[in-house]
Amino acid sequence: MPPRSVYIHIPFCSHKCYYCDFTAYHLDGQPVDAYLSALYEEMNIWTQVTPPNTIDTLYIGGGTPTVLKPHQMRQLLQAIERAFPQRSTNFEFTVEANPESVSKELLQILMDGGVNRISFGAQTFHPHLLRAIGRVHGVQEILYSVKWAREIGFSNLSLDLMFGLPGQTVEDMAETLEQVIAVKPEHLSCYSLKIEEGTRFYFMHQQNRLTLPTDEEEYHMFQLIRERLHQAGYRQYEISNFSLPGYESMHNKVYWQNDEYYGLGVGAHGYVNGVRYANIKGIQSYIERLENGDRPIAEQNHVSIEESMENFMILGLRLLQGVNKVRFAQRYGKSIDQVFGHVVQSLMKKKLIADKVESIQLTEKGLLFGNEVFAAFLSDVH
Ligand code: SF4
Repeated sequence: MPPRSVYIHIPFCSHKCYYCDFTAYHLDGQPVDAYLSALYEEMNIWTQVTPPNTIDTLYIGGGTPTVLKPHQMRQLLQAIERAFPQRSTNFEFTVEANPESVSKELLQILMDGGVNRISFGAQTFHPHLLRAIGRVHGVQEILYSVKWAREIGFSNLSLDLMFGLPGQTVEDMAETLEQVIAVKPEHLSCYSLKIEEGTRFYFMHQQNRLTLPTDEEEYHMFQLIRERLHQAGYRQYEISNFSLPGYESMHNKVYWQNDEYYGLGVGAHGYVNGVRYANIKGIQSYIERLENGDRPIAEQNHVSIEESMENFMILGLRLLQGVNKVRFAQRYGKSIDQVFGHVVQSLMKKKLIADKVESIQLTEKGLLFGNEVFAAFLSDVH
């Protein structure tokens, strides 16, 4: 069966945020049209090599997809429609958008092109914190983006938030949460700041120029997020993700359930026919490869059964519903107990996971020490 999900990467941004280590390049002077042509060629290759069937989810991420000009966005959506025309009845089509690059015209083009979910990079509702992390939008732009999207008719909006930012206090987080709740997005992703090598923050951190909240403050921010969103009717369904009932991200669940997906574009990852692959990261070399009719893959790995079982546990445990025992047994012909019995026992003793009737789940403690849980499943298949 071909994958039922597609990820497409648009690697351009109007600026570079100080914490960003994604495959994202400053838009100025980039060969955007040539990149899009290369992307269409990659779609052609995939539709020949592994012809798609019905698609459940499509996701255009970045970078900032909304930096594309209206005509470029229209062409991109048309090309996607040609390559992946068959869509399921509850099809989810998400586009990531940054508030500074959103216009009503562009949102209308997205709506007309079949997009039914927008994920806005808001991060925080404090202007000084937005500036501190190198974002170029203000709070007004977030509010206008959401307002316009609603006016155009989008009924499924997500906001990304960050916590643990330099100079951020628990009170700041509380205020941001009130503003977020007032905006009423259907979905929220809340990630703590990670200092990644090669970023501006990495160098500032090395030079002791970054004042970060303490671990304790960060813990309080996370607990505050969980409690306040719960009170406001949101359900935490994954370690970092919250939604109103019925609005979980279908696309992200594909990743967490270890299902396959096409990944297209520079630096994109994919998982097709049992092979996980990563595309090359340089824009020019991506374009050249596709101009020559070659696939732009940098590395690929045929996933072994053992690795797949590990991934199934590690990714699945991120979901609060946990790893379904029946799904595991159907997929691998063995029970979780047969394969990981001793790991499960040892994590249960530490009160990090719970063995429920239908699933294995993280406990409250496990939610805070997820990395310890995930590491225990690595290379431990017997
Ligand atoms: S907008 Fe997103 S992808 Fe672009 S630089 Fe900022 S964090 Fe990176």
